Amino acid sequence: MTPTTYSMTWNLDEFFPGGSSSKEFLAHLEKVKAEIQSFEKSIKAWDAASNKDTDLVHILEKFQKADLGLEQAESFVSCLQAQNMDDVKANELRGIVTSLASNFDTALTHLDKAFVQIEESNWQKLIELEPLQELQFVLNERRRLAAEKLSKEEETLINDLAVDGYHGWEEMYDAIVSQLSIPFKEDGKEVQLSVGQAQNKFSSHDREVRKNIFTEWEKAWGEQSELLSTTLNHLSGFRLAVYKKRGWNDVLQEALEYNRMSKETLDIMWKVISDNKKPFVEFLERKARLLGMEKLNWYDLDAPITDSAKTYSYQEGAAFIINHFREFGSELSHFAEKAFEDKWIEAEDRPGKRPGGFCTSFPLSNQSRIFMTYSDTYENVSTLAHELGHAFHTYAMKDVHPLNCHYAMNVAETASTFAETIVADAALKLAKNDGEKLALLESKIQSSIALLMNIHARFLFETRFYEERKKGMVSTAKLNEMMEDAQKETYGDSLGQYHPHFWGSKLHFYITDVPFYNFPYTFGYLFSLGIYAHAKKEGKDYEQKYISLLKDTGKMTVEELAKKHLGVDLTKAEFWQAGVDLCIKDVEEFLSMTK
Ligand SMILES: [Zn+2]
Repeated sequence: MTPTTYSMTWNLDEFFPGGSSSKEFLAHLEKVKAEIQSFEKSIKAWDAASNKDTDLVHILEKFQKADLGLEQAESFVSCLQAQNMDDVKANELRGIVTSLASNFDTALTHLDKAFVQIEESNWQKLIELEPLQELQFVLNERRRLAAEKLSKEEETLINDLAVDGYHGWEEMYDAIVSQLSIPFKEDGKEVQLSVGQAQNKFSSHDREVRKNIFTEWEKAWGEQSELLSTTLNHLSGFRLAVYKKRGWNDVLQEALEYNRMSKETLDIMWKVISDNKKPFVEFLERKARLLGMEKLNWYDLDAPITDSAKTYSYQEGAAFIINHFREFGSELSHFAEKAFEDKWIEAEDRPGKRPGGFCTSFPLSNQSRIFMTYSDTYENVSTLAHELGHAFHTYAMKDVHPLNCHYAMNVAETASTFAETIVADAALKLAKNDGEKLALLESKIQSSIALLMNIHARFLFETRFYEERKKGMVSTAKLNEMMEDAQKETYGDSLGQYHPHFWGSKLHFYITDVPFYNFPYTFGYLFSLGIYAHAKKEGKDYEQKYISLLKDTGKMTVEELAKKHLGVDLTKAEFWQAGVDLCIKDVEEFLSMTK
């Protein structure tokens, strides 16, 4: 084999040449605008009672067209903004795309309300018709969800008021956070760090650094806590008022419906996690001992226990991923190789890039793009595998009807975590010495701690907070208390000091578009581990079955998906226990290596 050198920058010109100055992109936006208008016009002209399927088929074709064009535009702008945060033109383009998306949402509200007006027996006849049959799940879902909402006029009014009265609070949060800076002493002089920069210091080797930054961190969030608490109280107050008007009593209703999962599944998942805290508490106690302390504090959770981690150049990382994907299946491996070759990935380490990583798809071109900043660590290799997993999910769905391709956040993390696990297990097997192996094991266990303890705390806090908020405004002191209680409970009282202002420092509590931005992460993680265990049992031929599972992720509930493809019942403890057991196995190995 000839050694290949893969590019560390991506190719966006393939979609629209010229970046944020692209004339082709402006023309595309005009086209999408016209498509949305035409979609809305055809809904308004539709005589739903006439029961003619050909009309609905035409409307859905327009839906699809506008939907794909809009996604292509959103992806392009996201890539432009991420590769250069100072690209002013890209920010302007974002404004245009956002308003197009809002027009599209309004059109969808009209469509959904038209669905509700169709009488039940007519509706059944309609969706039985040939061209609509394969879309039954998503069409029924749209109609059912729309029926649970208020009238078209009331929902339109809510949408209008939400711009300032709801989403406005999320913007308020961003405004508070962007002004926040955290003082830190470096080489004798004081510097002001942004929230992101300060956060990086928590993985410092030096405990003094972690301790100092945490003291300043808690203080800074504490100083803003009255503003943050007002913001959180009003944001949640708006959400609860809408729920009440719609007659929704359970604060989780919207989140569960969005994730296509049942309350039973959610409850049993958390119960299994709660029943299995002990090994993770033992891990935290052992980590404390290895770091030479009695108990870990919140700021020690991310501290590295060894500095013997292996480094990987970008080319080595790419080769490592491609080779180990091959052990699972040739399609995944070829796909990854092609993504590297065809410049789908932006990985260069340079200033001006957005932090973090993501994968986004360009449906009109049947391609994806991956964004990250690569700096030779194992974590970077893992992120790269994770994002390639997302891209593979999109690729697996290439022949699926576009309206059956929308999957929720809980299954969105399935293919990514799966790819990450393949690479993690391979790296562990190949570790050359105990130090390397421990570093890799710890990195795996840290994910378990994050998803089974940290996210659990967020979930408990958020559900309890919303119940409390139903009774009235919740004070800052009470928020701190509820946050700390949730942390103590989910970390099994294993820490010496907690992070009471976490409700302020975590953006996820302030996201208005997706409620309860926490439990889907844990679901996705354990669901993916369950599939991984299944794949290992089935051996080399599992790849095609895995692809058929991914294909179905946009058109059934998670319970149906698990039943059909894994033969398991998600409302029973067994499946979740098997996933948690895989995490415990890593902990046990870590404990025996560090006796
Ligand atoms: Zn992801």
